[in-house]
Amino acid sequence: MRLVHTVKEVREQVKEWRMEGLSIGLVPTMGFLHEGHQSLIAASVKENDRTVVSIFVNPTQFGPNEDFEAYPRDIEKDMALCDETGADLIFNPEPEEMYPDGFCTYTNITGLGDALCGKSRPIHFKGVCTVVSKLFNIVCSDRAYFGEKDAQQLAIIKRMVKDMNIPVEIKGCPIVREQDGLAKSSRNTYLNEKERAAALILSKAIFAGHDMVNAGERDAKKIVGAMTEIIKSEPLAVIDYVEMVNMDTMQPVDVVEGNILCAIAVKIGKTRLIDNFNDNIRQATP
Ligand code: AMP
Repeated sequence: MRLVHTVKEVREQVKEWRMEGLSIGLVPTMGFLHEGHQSLIAASVKENDRTVVSIFVNPTQFGPNEDFEAYPRDIEKDMALCDETGADLIFNPEPEEMYPDGFCTYTNITGLGDALCGKSRPIHFKGVCTVVSKLFNIVCSDRAYFGEKDAQQLAIIKRMVKDMNIPVEIKGCPIVREQDGLAKSSRNTYLNEKERAAALILSKAIFAGHDMVNAGERDAKKIVGAMTEIIKSEPLAVIDYVEMVNMDTMQPVDVVEGNILCAIAVKIGKTRLIDNFNDNIRQATP
């Protein structure tokens, strides 16, 4: 496995692989890798001849008062995880490599990017779309792997690829959780012991909401209401949003039917955590 820092090195390596007729998978990450990222890398290794993992804490997707500086970084540990999972190349650029002097072109998405996380993080998805489209252009992979943990991001990337005719197949991978249910996240490392215990309220609410859907409840307000009550029972939790939306539009629904996403964002202390479930509910026959 190789570690490279420049676009030129990635392009040279990819060109060699292409000459050999090899297929390529890309796993974009911000590093501080855990089993969630590892499941994406493993899926790529299984389905492609070569796997590229990008590790880049992307400044343009963080708002001015967010945790860009504090975001955890550990490239040595990340390299070991990538190596043991079978990745072939790590692309770990400096911000100047991705955003050189004079950089002024952005990829943006309207509508989908303004809902859910976009409300409290208004520039977030513009930064995500910009860096991901750059990575697609740099690596030119056949496939790219994203986690359902960031369901809105996954929907946005799928839409961007479709709208911009980017020749890459987007693969979504299921949420990987800790044994007690908490969705794995690099940001879990911010939580102290009390907060870690309180953070369980997210998955508790998610499982309860999903149970209601599975039991046949179709009133979105009832489900969102019940989940909100559960989260409010935790004194350390401050709700950003609890919403049931249509997966294609990210707009709230009244009735749970079709491809739905139930997503939550909750602050535990200073740490903002997200979780979700999605389901495809067949429409009731009239
Ligand atoms: P990040 O490093 O947080 O930007 O995440 C990089 C990729 O890993 C994204 O596609 C995430 O959705 C995915 N990911 C992060 N956490 C998880 C998880 N717990 N389960 C599955 N995928 C995840």
